[in-house]
Amino acid sequence: MPDENAPLARCLTAPRLSSSHKPSTFQTASPSISSPRGFRSSVATEALKNGIVGLPNVGKSTMFNAICENGKAQAANFPFCTIEPNVGMVAVPDSRLDKLVEMSESLKAVPTSVEFYDIAGLVKGASKGEGLGNQFLANIRECDSIVQVVRCFEDPDVVHVAGKVDPVDDTDVINFELILSDVAQIEKRMEKLKKGRAPKPEEKKQNEMEAAALQRILDGLESGIPARAIELNEDEEPLVKVLCLLTKKPMIYAANVSEEDLAGQGKDNVHVQALMKKAEAEGSDVVVISAQVEAELNELEAAEAEEYLRDLGVQEGGLKSLIRATYKQLGLLTYFTTGVQESRAWTVKAGSTAPQAAGVIHSDFEKGFIRAETVAFDDFVELGGFNGAKDAGKLRLGGY
Ligand code: GDP
Repeated sequence: MPDENAPLARCLTAPRLSSSHKPSTFQTASPSISSPRGFRSSVATEALKNGIVGLPNVGKSTMFNAICENGKAQAANFPFCTIEPNVGMVAVPDSRLDKLVEMSESLKAVPTSVEFYDIAGLVKGASKGEGLGNQFLANIRECDSIVQVVRCFEDPDVVHVAGKVDPVDDTDVINFELILSDVAQIEKRMEKLKKGRAPKPEEKKQNEMEAAALQRILDGLESGIPARAIELNEDEEPLVKVLCLLTKKPMIYAANVSEEDLAGQGKDNVHVQALMKKAEAEGSDVVVISAQVEAELNELEAAEAEEYLRDLGVQEGGLKSLIRATYKQLGLLTYFTTGVQESRAWTVKAGSTAPQAAGVIHSDFEKGFIRAETVAFDDFVELGGFNGAKDAGKLRLGGY
């Protein structure tokens, strides 16, 4: 769902799964062409990891519970009620997959999935050991992107740690802790580069390049600029990547609003407006969401949920908007494969080559890649499948 023109693909490959394999087409509109043996058991796709952070009592656990069907987190009006990170795997909702299942009469549908981590313990001074201290940092480091839940709802019954609702202040507190943590991480690394064993001649240049890049990031952080806003060249990027800096990860602000503010996307809510202004200046995205509404949606059947959203004047549930924003920030897109056995959604980096995209399905597909046949989803639907698309000249063939 996050990209609009997701292609469908079938890849002609010479997989090295068995010595007797002839080149075969993965993923079939035509059931007579078989998938490589061993494919199903060796699919290796890493789910995208989203860390949910925010001050206590802003609605993180409520949102986590709502978006993760297994809902392990405990929502309560009490700071630090979520002591351990809770992890939930969520199928990415995508109506196009349902359409493909219908057209191909697929035996099963496999959506792509996203993991959410409910990360507790971020408070003022956390990087110096306040609250749950540094425990949260390792959890955030493992995530691909950060969803920062920001309280934009007023409710006298729900305590605010700072005594007042002020999303800009709240995000300053969180972002400052992330910056402090990165500063400590970089300083430690720079110390090691300076004091470590004498580098071999070929390492020396590399180390100097890394130190210079880190110094630029450090200068930025000290002026409140996150690492993601500091430009690095393609040689520097991998050197810095290993540090897993927190402020290098894309940040999405989830403005948690009341039910009344949802339809207007918070246009009448001064807190949301202030947050949007701040996010725009940073190049971050804001998703307006109501944790409470999401929780209520979970209780309903699909048709009732749709009706509820319609009554509220809302186009789509918060989970969809959140995943859309995450895909955009991480530069990801979806492509599909479809056949009688299954219809399936896959996640790839935008700009991936066809062999790289095939490699998401199986690394052998990338190694043995010959060519891919792709068709735009809309053409596939309009022309009744691969054969119709081929007859209309809409099937694209590429060995790129
Ligand atoms: P966390 O500490 O950030 O994980 O916050 P929780 O999800 O535990 O929520 C703290 C309290 O705020 C709970 O009593 C929730 O019911 C309440 N809460 C969460 N989201 C909303 C919301 O959108 N509106 C209102 N009025 N209360 C909410």
